[in-house]
This record gives sequence, C-alpha cells and structure tokens, in this order.
Amino acid sequence: MIKYEGLIIRPPSEADSLIIQATIGCSDNGCTFCPAYKKKTFRIRDIKDIEKDLSYASRGASGTRRIFLADGDAAVIRNDTLIEILNLCRKYFPGINRVGIYASPKSLENKSAEELRALKSNGLGIIYLGVETGDDEVYRRIGKWGSPGKTAALCLKVKEAGIKLNTTVVLGLGGVARTKEHALNTAKLLNIIRPDHVAALTLMPVKGTRISEEIRAGIFQLPDDMGTVKELFRLITCMDDFRCLFFSNHASNYFPVNARFPKDKESVLEDLRKAISEGDRTGFRGERTRGL
Ligand code: SF4
Repeated sequence: MIKYEGLIIRPPSEADSLIIQATIGCSDNGCTFCPAYKKKTFRIRDIKDIEKDLSYASRGASGTRRIFLADGDAAVIRNDTLIEILNLCRKYFPGINRVGIYASPKSLENKSAEELRALKSNGLGIIYLGVETGDDEVYRRIGKWGSPGKTAALCLKVKEAGIKLNTTVVLGLGGVARTKEHALNTAKLLNIIRPDHVAALTLMPVKGTRISEEIRAGIFQLPDDMGTVKELFRLITCMDDFRCLFFSNHASNYFPVNARFPKDKESVLEDLRKAISEGDRTGFRGERTRGL
C-alpha cells in the first residue's frame, strides 16, 4: 500500500493523476502566505521507496495516464536522479502520457536549459510554478526566493525546453494597499512569460502563517470579495491576447472563471464588469463555501 506522508497537495488539473511523493514538503517553505507544508521537514525520498510506490500502484492502476510527483518541489532533485524517477514511471506505467511536478524558482535556477531539455525528453510534461505576483514590492514582502524578473527568465527557460508551464498567481496578495500594482504588474509579468496555463487563486490567510499575523497586527489588509473581483478584472484587462487556459475556479476564489484566452476573454470581462458595476454578488462563491 502507498503510505502518503502528511497532507497531499496537488494542482486541480492533476485530480485524476496517480500521486507519488518524490519529496516530502517544500525546499523553500518560507513564503509568508503559504500554509502548505509547514508541518513537514523537507527531504528527498529514497528512490527505492519511490519505486516501491510505483510498483505497488501499477498492480491496481494500470490505466494510469498521468503521474504527479509530489510534494512541493520535485525540481530540487538532482537531474540524473529525477531522470531515473521519470524512467521508473514509464517502466511501471508504459502507457503514461504526462508526468508533472511543482517547482520552486530556486530549483529552476539550478537547472540548466540542457538539463530541462533532458527532463522533457525523459517524459516530464508539465511544471507548475507559483509566480504569485509580478510586483517587486509585493514579492519582497512575501519572502519568496527570487524576484518577478528572475521568475520571468526561469519561465522562459522552461518554455524553451518544450515543457508545458502552469503558473499560479494569488489574488489579494498585495492587500488593499497594492491591489492595483499587484494586478497590473502581474499582468505585465504574464505578458512576458505567456504561460500555457494561468491559475489565479485567492489568498485565504491561515492561522500560523506570517501574513495572518500581519493581518491581526493591522499591517496588512485583505481586499474584500468585491475588491478581489476588481483585482481579477484589472489583471485580465491588462493581459495581452496570448493563448492560455485561464482558471480562477479554485475553491478559494470568489468569482469562478474557467476560460480559454483570448477566445473567451471578452465574455469573462463582460461578466466581471456587470458584477462590479451593479454590485451584484449572485455569481460569487460565499465565504462559507470557500476553501483551500
Ligand atoms: S508558496 Fe510554494 S515555494 Fe512558497 S512555501 Fe509554499 S509551496 Fe513552498
């Protein structure tokens, strides 16, 4: 039996994937808003244990088409080991068509373009990266390694290697004070990266995170539902017309969007415009049904 360690987090689009923990926790684990892996001490799992999980899973899930290598940052694994793991995925699941991982910016910084191309040719199909914000000031405050400029360069490196890129941005991360800058500069960053997928989550402060302390201390003020929807409107308005799947249908979001841009962009903006101008919250997810 696969014994997962702690809470397993995976992207919504990996809901049907086989989840195999290649790492435990996140190698950064320092972002002020992120509660995801606070209870886990980061480590890379022994490849023998990873193989045991794959072997076990292959006996009952032979129809598996996608594998997601959890936890927070499988990109931190040395390239030769990661290639070995990708090969094991194919050995036990010859029919798979995609393996995905989360990556932290620092881990991507440590991978050369050549190494990324090698991962692609060994079956790595998609990388999920938390871009969070394009605003330098907001990025500095959330305590994540890197900067928006660095993120742009890393994302372009991933795309040039032919690996699909899913970027996550977080609505509300600039607070009330920097909502405009956060939306505008995040759109500018996305316009440079042009990722295949954009997932906009909404900040939900969790007890024990630094941002929730800042809220309690009155240093940080979270936009309300309409403020967050206005931020989403500004973000989409400022995005160029590049092709991507745009999602803000995660349980944390007030206004669910699941659209193909640029085709659906105008109708999404029209819905948002209507809700904002009429103060109409009927399409909003209520606080009680929001979650992480
Ligand atoms: S946001 Fe990502 S990089 Fe930051 S602590 Fe959470 S999982 Fe790790």
